[in-house]
Order: sequence, then structure tokens, then C-alpha cells
Amino acid sequence: MSVFSIWKRTLTVENTVVEGVRFDENEQCVIVSVRSDARRRQRCGRCRRPAPWYDAGRGRRRWRDLDHGAVRVFLEADAPRVECRIHGPAVVAVPWARHCAGHTLAFDAQTAWMAAECSKSATATLMRTSWRTVGCIVERFVADRDRAVDRLNGLCRIGIDEISHRKGQKYMTVVVDHDTAKVVWMADGHGKDILHRFFDVLGAQRAAHLTHISADGAGWIADVLALRAPSAARVMDPFHVVAWATGALDAERRASWNRARHGHEGRETARALKDSRFALWKNEADLTDRQMAKLAWIQATDPRLHRAWRLKEALRMVFTLARARPTAALRALNRWIGWARRCRIPAFVDLQRKVVRHYDAIWAALNTGMSNGLIESTNTKTRLIIRRGFGFHTADAIIALVMLTLAGDKPTLPGRQPTTE
Ligand SMILES: [Zn+2]
Repeated sequence: MSVFSIWKRTLTVENTVVEGVRFDENEQCVIVSVRSDARRRQRCGRCRRPAPWYDAGRGRRRWRDLDHGAVRVFLEADAPRVECRIHGPAVVAVPWARHCAGHTLAFDAQTAWMAAECSKSATATLMRTSWRTVGCIVERFVADRDRAVDRLNGLCRIGIDEISHRKGQKYMTVVVDHDTAKVVWMADGHGKDILHRFFDVLGAQRAAHLTHISADGAGWIADVLALRAPSAARVMDPFHVVAWATGALDAERRASWNRARHGHEGRETARALKDSRFALWKNEADLTDRQMAKLAWIQATDPRLHRAWRLKEALRMVFTLARARPTAALRALNRWIGWARRCRIPAFVDLQRKVVRHYDAIWAALNTGMSNGLIESTNTKTRLIIRRGFGFHTADAIIALVMLTLAGDKPTLPGRQPTTE
């Protein structure tokens, strides 16, 4: 086997001829000269159809490939332009890289795998590239992969959620398949128009097959759903109901703190109340010893705030209970409503009214078993990935990172078989 053949094998390129290999002393990297084989030459880079010669373009170009050992490797080739019937003058297609990409397919694949599996800094450091470039690579990798599949086929039970990014100023809309826990659609922005856009992509026929749609309680969502998927039951997203309860508890904690500050309890109590946020927020089972002690202290000094905490925990428990015993959960919900109505804590009396207003949708959540932790865990994962995507140049790159990780088919390393999970 000649040296060139060995290089061709290690580069994992197809339909490519290796013409030469040299070491660039200035750049301290390996340059491999390549060209497309005869059958692949003179094809449009955008549609890959054969096209007549146009001009020499901007001469020879380089594509960054995976490192060999500890040394950077570049492929180098002519990049003339062809005149495509559809796209006009376009740079020729090359078998080793995506159109207009400065990296090879193998480089893209490994970067995508790293972005899905490793930390931001590990990815950028190992690939010797910026996190922004990682964003561009992920975007084109996912665009390419997603052209082959239609993720909206066969949907029955979906969840619609709005997740904030850029510190809560902007929102993204995420649609999740509850039966597979996969993200199936995502868009930058939120509101009526975005939701209509989802149903436009889905089409009336597939919308008719939807049986359950979970979402938060916003009135406009109900309006759009009634119009576009009238046969589907609207289900309240348990995640949001628990978030309402946490919000009500926080309002009550602030009220207690203000009372303590201005009353005779003094500053010490006020400060302790201010520090109690996490103890009050966390699920009871996850509390640390110190947080348990804090709650015991609240119970002794501020029975009203402690009652508010118990109301929050009880509402959360309704949804936990629903995973195993939906009927018991329905009874528990009714008892909770009665309790909250008489609790004389304004924030929870209001919450009780809100729960009654959305009773049917909450009832559906408990009854269909859609209140399982799956929704919440997909939700949490999506939020984490969106936060990782900060530093990408566009919202589309952030969306691509979410789809790369949560749409189901995770990337594989170049030259390896996908592993079965
Ligand atoms: Zn073309």
C-alpha cells in the first residue's frame, strides 16, 4: 500500500484522491493535497448536481481536518466554481466537506459529538476552536442530519413549552413528544404566531391525530389549540402548576420578611427569613439537614409561612402521587382545593382560584399519567442546554444544540458504529 493510500484511509474520506502530503514548517501542520475523483468533479456545492465549469473561484482552499497525533492537518484542493442551472455560479461540491464549511465532515462529526457529550471548554480546547465556531458546526451538522427525517410523524401526545434565554428577555418555543421524551420542534420566539407556525409545519392531517397537548395555562394557547387541534385534550403541564405554587410561596415569604423587618421581631428574624429561600423551594425529600433545621425554625416562629410551605408541598405531591395512583391524586387535588380556599393566605387563595380555573386541564394531566417526571426532566435538560448555548452567535445555533442532544439520534464519532443505549 502506498503512503498516499494510507493517508486516504486514515483521513476517512470517500471519493477522494490524495495527490501529495507535506509538512508546513511555518504553520507547523500537515497539508494533504486532494481532489475529488473523476465522477464527483464539477458538481454544484449546494445541490450536488453536475454543472458546467464557470471560473477558477478563489484558487486553492484549505479545510481543517482532525489532528493526526498532536499535529493539525489540513486538506488542500482547488475550489473552482460551476454554473448551476438552479443556483447560478457556485463553488464545486467536495466529497470531504459540507458546502461553504472550512472543516471536513470528520471534523464536524467529532465536534458535534463533543458538543453533545462534553463540557464547553473541553470541546473548544480539544478541537482547538472557539465555542462560536462549535455553534456554526453544530448548526450545519444538525441541518444536514435533519433533512433526512421528519420528526413530526406519528405524534400523539405532545407538550408545548416556552423557555427563556438571554437572561429572561427572550423566549424559545419547544415542542416535546411525551411518548418518546424527545424534542421534535423548536423555534426562536414565542406567542401565537410561533405556535401557528408549528401547526403549519405539522399540517391538519397530523394535527388531527394528536390526542393530548400539554402546555401552561395561558389563554392564547388554549385559543390556538381550539382552532388548530380541536380534537386533542388540553392538559395542564404539571411543571407549571408546581411553579405557580413556588411563586405563591415566595410571595408569602417576602410578605413575612417585610412584616418581620417592620415589626418587633427585629432584624435577626428578617435575615433568617431571607436566607430561607432554598429550604422553602426545594422538594422536601431533597432537603439538607441545615435546611430541615431552617424549616423547623420557621414552623416555630412563623406558623403561617410554614403552612404556606405545606400547601406548596401538598400540591407538588398531588402530581407525584398521580404517577402511581391517578384516582388517589384526583381526590388529593380536591382536598387541596378545599384546604387552600380556607387557608387565609392571600397568595394561596389566589392560587386555588387559578387551579379551579384550570381544573379540567389539571384533571386531564392527573388522569392520563402525563404528569410523570419525563416532562419535567426533558424540560430541565432543555433549559440546561439552552444555557450552554450562550456564546453562540445565533438563536438557530442554540436550537441546533438542543436538537443535537434531545431529538433522539445523538451523533457518533467518525469511523465508529453507533452504540446502542
Ligand atoms: Zn445547484
